[in-house]
Amino acid sequence: MREKKTNEMKLILQSRSQNEGVARIAVSGFLSSLDPTIEEINDIKTAVSEAVTNCIVHAYEESVGTIYITCQMYGKTVHIKIRDTGCGIEDVEKAMTPLYTTKGDERSGLGFAVMESFMDGLRVKSIPGKGTTVYMKKTIFGK
Ligand code: ATP
Ligand code: MG
Repeated sequence: MREKKTNEMKLILQSRSQNEGVARIAVSGFLSSLDPTIEEINDIKTAVSEAVTNCIVHAYEESVGTIYITCQMYGKTVHIKIRDTGCGIEDVEKAMTPLYTTKGDERSGLGFAVMESFMDGLRVKSIPGKGTTVYMKKTIFGK
């Protein structure tokens, strides 16, 4: 059985590149009460950066939209949801394939692979034209 929710943070950001850093710092601050190791916090910050960057460069592309971030703690397990209302993804399975990118000259197509390897779970839901939601979770064992 899943533990009860022990803490929650909601953050709404504009899809501007400087807000990638804001998201990283906010999430790591929120998690500090769990006393994570440097490695755990770096893994989570990197995964959050990848998801937020995707909202900035893909979901809203040339425009500025809104990124909704929710972090929840269930004891030592952290659930992070990063949602946009941008262009959406036609084929999520294909998009999640390592090295697949729709911006071949600028990007390497490794964002989802990084999220998958640094977190304990990754799910992506998307509706073309409506937006994308990335769900990630990780258990913090701490120091
Ligand atoms: P990298 O992350 O290595 O810079 P990338 O962003 O192309 O390259 P992924 O993060 O794995 O690689 O994403 C794969 C593809 O999925 C993207 O090229 C893009 O087409 C699509 N995608 C990912 N996130 C979103 C999103 N939030 N909205 C729309 N499309 C997305
Ligand atoms: Mg990416």
